[in-house]
Amino acid sequence: MAGSVTFTMIKPDAVSNNHIGAILQKINEAGFTIRAMKYTHLTPESAGKFYAIHKERGFFNDLVSFMSSGPIVAAILEKDNAVADFRDLIGATDPTKAAPGTIRAMFAKSIDANAMHGSDSDENAIIEGNFFFSELERF
Ligand code: GDP
Repeated sequence: MAGSVTFTMIKPDAVSNNHIGAILQKINEAGFTIRAMKYTHLTPESAGKFYAIHKERGFFNDLVSFMSSGPIVAAILEKDNAVADFRDLIGATDPTKAAPGTIRAMFAKSIDANAMHGSDSDENAIIEGNFFFSELERF
């Protein structure tokens, strides 16, 4: 039976620290199926659009600058209860508060360079997946 989907990015810190392989392994081991994936580099403009919901927050400029500082891996993942299960897998936004064994606890260094993005709702998972992938790029 088809599960629900979530959207993720392996952020520039985790890519530049060579954690792509280990992170994808953890994602697969947790039961997620990859429905679409690309290695790309956000421009400041595209990072600003993706994170527009945060534009009034004090950290917005730092977030845009960090997310456009290097390549990322974007992916659509499928699993029953994908959004909540994936947020459990990545752990708290602040890696110092992330549970042991979560991806952020293992691979993130700080709240801004926190290794992973995970959608916060089914609705945003669709919007975010559509931001990166056309119909032809999904399976
Ligand atoms: P998430 O859903 O766990 O990614 O967290 P949020 O939606 O609240 O924030 C989006 C992203 O903004 C986070 O993943 C962080 O990269 C960044 N961020 C959140 N809070 C802070 C902060 O206090 N300072 C900085 N520099 N970045 C933050």
